[in-house]
Amino acid sequence: MTLDASAVLDRFRRAGALLEGHFRLTSGLHSPGYLQSALVLQHPREAEACGVALAERLRDCGARTVLSPALGGIVIGQEVGRALGIRAIFAERVDGKLALRRGFSFEPGETVIVIEDVVTTGGSTRETIEVARAAGARVVGAGAIIDRSVGPQPLDVPFHALAKVSLPTYEPASCPLCLAGQPVVKPGSRV
Ligand SMILES: [Zn+2]
Repeated sequence: MTLDASAVLDRFRRAGALLEGHFRLTSGLHSPGYLQSALVLQHPREAEACGVALAERLRDCGARTVLSPALGGIVIGQEVGRALGIRAIFAERVDGKLALRRGFSFEPGETVIVIEDVVTTGGSTRETIEVARAAGARVVGAGAIIDRSVGPQPLDVPFHALAKVSLPTYEPASCPLCLAGQPVVKPGSRV
């Protein structure tokens, strides 16, 4: 069984991982939606199902290794690696910059796919791709469970997401939901 976009989003809604309304994000920006994929991925069977579905989209890339940015990408990266039968490693932040640690390395020209849970601006995906390239790997694709970016994904490798959601962010002063008088809530607090 492979998951289509609406089945993925249903799983997120059921887990309380996709909230719709009017939210003040950690960044201070306002948004009509909030995503917390850890609430889905905490259930191993859900994580496995997402990993299998994402692996199907990326199988033709022929990667030998999955690379994910910590922490958000580790669980889904592991599941994609399991489904493809390849190793899964991660990059982590050292002084704010992603780096390979723990003895992780690539052979020259080793084919790699970069896997994340949620892509918002694509910034951390691009940074993870650069980490792989700097370590001698060849990046052949990228994937995420959910693409919440606005507009096309400016990546220079094939990119696949299980679901695309349109969740714009607004400066509070120009937030249309504020202008409409809708109360703003902080995710995690009781409404
Ligand atoms: Zn607002």
